[in-house]
Amino acid sequence: MNPERRLFAAFPVEHDELLVGGVPVAHLAARVGRTPFYAYDRGLIHARVQKVREVLQGMFSLHYAVKANPMPALVAFMAGVVDGFDVASLGELRVALNAGMPSTEISFAGPGKRAEELEAAVAAGILINVESLREIRLLEGISARLGYPARVAVRVNPDFELKASGMKMGGGPKQFGIDAEQVPEALAEIGRCGLAFEGFHIFSGSQNLRAAAICEAQNKAYELALRLAAYAPAPVKVLNLGGGFGIPYFAGDTALDLPAVAEAMAALAARAQRELPAARLVIELGRYLVGEAGIYVCRVLDRKVSRGETFLITDGGMHHHLAASGNFGQVIRRNYPLCNGRRVYGAPRETVNVVGPLCTPLDLLGDRVELGRAEEGDLIVVAQSGAYGYTASPLRFLSHPEPVEVLA
Ligand SMILES: *Cc1c(COP(=O)(O)O)cnc(C)c1O
Repeated sequence: MNPERRLFAAFPVEHDELLVGGVPVAHLAARVGRTPFYAYDRGLIHARVQKVREVLQGMFSLHYAVKANPMPALVAFMAGVVDGFDVASLGELRVALNAGMPSTEISFAGPGKRAEELEAAVAAGILINVESLREIRLLEGISARLGYPARVAVRVNPDFELKASGMKMGGGPKQFGIDAEQVPEALAEIGRCGLAFEGFHIFSGSQNLRAAAICEAQNKAYELALRLAAYAPAPVKVLNLGGGFGIPYFAGDTALDLPAVAEAMAALAARAQRELPAARLVIELGRYLVGEAGIYVCRVLDRKVSRGETFLITDGGMHHHLAASGNFGQVIRRNYPLCNGRRVYGAPRETVNVVGPLCTPLDLLGDRVELGRAEEGDLIVVAQSGAYGYTASPLRFLSHPEPVEVLA
């Protein structure tokens, strides 16, 4: 099986056409009414969530990190299948509450929370992962005004890094969280301000495909929390150990060994039961739950041959899908898995460049990719597009229409 084939394996193919939510992609395109669009397959999301829950066996609560994909219908679907949400802004908090997630199961992290965001969070009764002394002091005033204490956990910037992580979000100098060394002082301040201390949040990085690195980071995070718990003004009720589970984006990437991670997590949970008996353990996952269940679909507007290379010029591109163009934090540009939606695996095949309509060479979705031959009007599908797509892209760049989003 070639690597492209593996990366599309989540979606069934019938008569060489990709099925999304059981619907042939061309039929779905007609139903959507225009291209480009993002489609998320709720059956695939559900299957992924069930798989994670199965290996966690209730030892960890499973939270969804809304920033990975905040489409309201998708978030509402997630509200029914995960234990909680993590939000990173007031806008995401609104989506989370509208989706029907109980406020007690929502937490809020992010550096530089505005005073009105903190006030809304306290008013909603959600857990706030505080990331500075400033936030603690603002919460003291807000709690006094509203007449009840803010629920807080301390987001810790750990004194270690997540190895082999696509995006490091902890360790070393960072804008995220409170440096581990300063946490005792912050905990004393939380006690002095009379805030409702609930626990710790330690997120060290994202997009990690190596089970051993994730397990090591979780163990270190746990030990750090255990050390810091000695300074806490109240017992630890919640310990959020982050997540960082990655998905394979590129040929040669190997999927995360989930059972291996789960085995280490079980050992950790057993330890926590002895050492932090009041603590509920939480992991928060974004892309791992939704990334592989989403596709981006655009249409070929033109076929052009330039000095021996074929260009498929589509109505979609970097303005809709920055990550697939290679401009969302990637060091080396590699192709996301692409296919011709109605000629996924079959012949004839050809090597083409898939580009968008923008006047910039950055607007590249496929650099010399092998696809089933596509004509004008055919649909090109980009896989692994369920997370950090629509809302992580510069939609206004060049003033083209925005893509549609559907939950199929
Ligand atoms: C972005 C983020 C996540 C989600 O990361 P994924 O790679 O999508 O799993 C989780 N927690 C925090 C604090 C984040 O900022």
